[in-house]
Amino acid sequence: MAKIAIIGAGFVGSTAAYALFLKKVCSTIALIDISKEKAEGEAMDLEQGMLFVPGTHFSYGSSYEQCKDADIVVITAGLAQKKGETRLDLVRKNAAILKEMVPKIVEHNKSCIIILVTNPVDIMTYLTIKYSGFPKERVFGTGTTLDTARLRYYLGEYLNLSPQSVHAYIMGEHGDSEFPVWSAAAVGGLRIDNMHGWSAEAGESCFQKTKNAAYEIINRKGATYYAIALVIADICEAILSDEGKIFPLSTYLENYYDEGDVCLSVPCALGKEGIRRRIQLPLNDSEQQALHKSAGVLKGIIKDIVE
Ligand code: NAD
Repeated sequence: MAKIAIIGAGFVGSTAAYALFLKKVCSTIALIDISKEKAEGEAMDLEQGMLFVPGTHFSYGSSYEQCKDADIVVITAGLAQKKGETRLDLVRKNAAILKEMVPKIVEHNKSCIIILVTNPVDIMTYLTIKYSGFPKERVFGTGTTLDTARLRYYLGEYLNLSPQSVHAYIMGEHGDSEFPVWSAAAVGGLRIDNMHGWSAEAGESCFQKTKNAAYEIINRKGATYYAIALVIADICEAILSDEGKIFPLSTYLENYYDEGDVCLSVPCALGKEGIRRRIQLPLNDSEQQALHKSAGVLKGIIKDIVE
């Protein structure tokens, strides 16, 4: 069975470990944190549930040797934005962490798939591709999978349908310039704008709730971690079972509507090799403009931080 290493045993990393444990996705989970004590405490708390969910073993530490033999390495380590700090300050700090961390992962494991969760995830994905030298198929970010889950939840709530039966994507930056792809949204094979009760205003309201979801949760409880943990578990499961399941992932673009040398989210099929295929959705004019806008925002940040 498989091994998954999670770097960063904070809210997101430890909750992802719990989701992977409950879903029995792998046989070993390694928790790595700059604070060995934190990683140890989380591993102890998790392994004491083995009576109820047998089959997963835990290891922990602050050394990247823990990444050895891992099929997948999930990076959730990083700093959160402090009061008075700009987004760019945060990018620079998390980029510096990655610059030190990624070569150490590679030193112990040259064949793993690396999944980025740390924000801003699109920039972190771009930098990890650069620092690892890995093929682009093996390094990607969770991207707008969480935003898409939120949108499908709100659409399902509005239409009184299961989110699993509402097909719609958020593409672009995992952040303010993301956009919904209404031209490809469907319910039971029917275009969403042909659904009884649908209106552009209803769609916009669901999208605004999606866009503000992280702020709303952070205002109330300080962090978001349950839904992103399920995103991580589902992505890992899809890789290990070689399903070809599709997620909107932050991936390195090459000639996608003429965009390249940037990471942002487009629908991608996943398999054992990582990203098996990027799906080129037939975007309408305004969606294409939104894609270029998102790429422009991200390229601007990359230009600011890459020397
Ligand atoms: P957290 O502060 O609870 O956890 C971060 C952990 O990283 C801490 O335990 C810290 O000790 C560790 N760490 C810091 N520097 C490290 C290093 N150099 N090596 C190893 N470990 C190190 O934060 P969190 O709430 O778990 O969030 C983690 C990241 O995930 C943030 O960047 C957050 O914005 C991001 N996030 C992303 C999404 C998404 O959809 N992509 C969703 C939620 C959160």
